[in-house]
Amino acid sequence: MKRMVLFFLVLIPFGLLSQEFRLDRIEPPNWWIGFKSPDLQLLIHGKNIATTTVSVDYPGFYIKKINKLKNPNYLFLDMTIGPGTKSGIAIIQFRVKDKIVAKYLYELKDRKEKSAQRQSFSSSDVIYLLMPDRFANGDPANDNVTGMVEKADRNNPDGRHGGDIKGIADHLDYITDLGATTIWITPLLENNQPKYSYHGYSITDYYKIDPRFGTNEEYAGLSKAIHQRGMKLIMDQVFNHCGSGHWWINDLPSPDWINEWPEFTRSNYRAGTACDPYASAIDSDQFVRGWFDTTMPDLNQHNPFVKNYLIQNSIWWVEYAGLDGIRQDTHPYPFKDMMSDWGKRMLEEYPNLNIVGECWMNYPASVAYWQKDALNKDGYNSNLPSVLDFPIYDALNKAFNESESWNTGILRLYDILSLDLSYPNPSNIVVFADNHDVNRYLDSQNDDIRKLKMALAFILTTRGIPEIFYGTEILMTTGSDKGHGFIRRDFPGGWPGDSLNAFSLQGRNENQSDMYNYLHTLLQWRKSKEVVQTGKLKHFIPEHGIYTYFRYNSKETVMVMMNNNDETKTIDTKRYNEFLNKYKTGLDIINGTEIGDLALLTIPSKTALIIELRK
Ligand code: CA
Repeated sequence: MKRMVLFFLVLIPFGLLSQEFRLDRIEPPNWWIGFKSPDLQLLIHGKNIATTTVSVDYPGFYIKKINKLKNPNYLFLDMTIGPGTKSGIAIIQFRVKDKIVAKYLYELKDRKEKSAQRQSFSSSDVIYLLMPDRFANGDPANDNVTGMVEKADRNNPDGRHGGDIKGIADHLDYITDLGATTIWITPLLENNQPKYSYHGYSITDYYKIDPRFGTNEEYAGLSKAIHQRGMKLIMDQVFNHCGSGHWWINDLPSPDWINEWPEFTRSNYRAGTACDPYASAIDSDQFVRGWFDTTMPDLNQHNPFVKNYLIQNSIWWVEYAGLDGIRQDTHPYPFKDMMSDWGKRMLEEYPNLNIVGECWMNYPASVAYWQKDALNKDGYNSNLPSVLDFPIYDALNKAFNESESWNTGILRLYDILSLDLSYPNPSNIVVFADNHDVNRYLDSQNDDIRKLKMALAFILTTRGIPEIFYGTEILMTTGSDKGHGFIRRDFPGGWPGDSLNAFSLQGRNENQSDMYNYLHTLLQWRKSKEVVQTGKLKHFIPEHGIYTYFRYNSKETVMVMMNNNDETKTIDTKRYNEFLNKYKTGLDIINGTEIGDLALLTIPSKTALIIELRK
């Protein structure tokens, strides 16, 4: 937002008139010319603004319809941007009895060249997921900001710790050097809540970066810096709920803006009800209309103004910050017809944009329901290109902890992948061992680093788009403490005065260095390995705790073998001859050593062997 435009938001009180009028905000605060859709709906908020006469005088940009709701403090203007409209500043005027009581300079900007054709994140990328409050504090001066009710307190695991956009910008080289190519930052928008607001999922202003993280301009600057490094940026968006401290909560445009209940009613969190063919009406209703939390009012996306508001907000951020992708929080929780319309519109405006939805269910069939073009019996098409692979997360958390049997242990990975038949596009699914909402992988594996390495080897070589949670590379754990606050610990070295700095080689202990190097080797290798990014996958039924699969294309083949046993195994590879008969030797990409003979392979306990096959 340009300050010039903000300046004209200033109210013009009109003492001579019997009523007080104010203009507090117009959203979206600006727009662009050249979108496929010529339509734009402006939310206008201010005291008695609906009782004024509104006009716009700008060639090609005109009011199609003025919508007034019960609350006189809102106007919704249906605008049209006609063909040939030029960029510039349109003056929106509000009059009472021929006197101008408020005006707003509405900027229509030119879109950046090729904005619509932007290339998004894909299976060629690896996502580094981080929480801005917990990654690095680049600017201690913004830890506490006047007007923001919650103050910084690093001693409170559920409090704000002061991390910010500058902290991320200061460590882009670290992320690039590690080898990730895409950054997913959990929500940065304002969360002006009295407590537990550091996570960002209680948005109180959909058009403003939380000042404790920085400014809108800083966010756009971060995006630019990320792009200069050849990396990509994913924004975490939240349509299901807002924060109870949202500016509109005390002055709702209409009673049905949020889903109200006679008494506080939580969602049942059973996302399956949104796709279960046998779901009862009461369960489905409570899932979708129940509140996520007492501090997270459930937005009613069936209200057409809410729907437009959210869709335009999503587009606004893609265009404003030059985003490469979106992660949608709690994707099945909003009304799913609206979510489908959102996806459709996004792909009309940005055909290559990738959007990954958090569809947290444990079975591939139910997750697959939410991926674009799934053959759903009810005809539903989400228009959501990508989903988060919770079934693989679940399988990975069990596979290396269980003893081997007919249906346990490493077979979990084989079994879950065999259910890819449900997905319309398995290569566009985000695979992960953990994230910000679940125990860190090491915690679920009794701190066994070998198992973490196996899990990372798996997500980086199987199909899909790998995601790595910040701190994994330096063995961050939740430890004996419990709860989200500890899963999301501060990255050591991110705060001025930290006694250890794990961002630097010298600041990492031996185990951390070993883990960092392991991941670094894999990530740097994967960057140039088209066969792992986009190649086909074939796997062999696990036998005796050994799971083997191949990634292949017309040019090359990579073999991955995992040993889930407690002892070293030597494997006769005859069984894999449909791949190995074309190859004589290989390169162990972790150790960098040549394997002169592929007939017998020796693999240590709890290890993944990754071999580039050679003729
Ligand atoms: Ca800060």
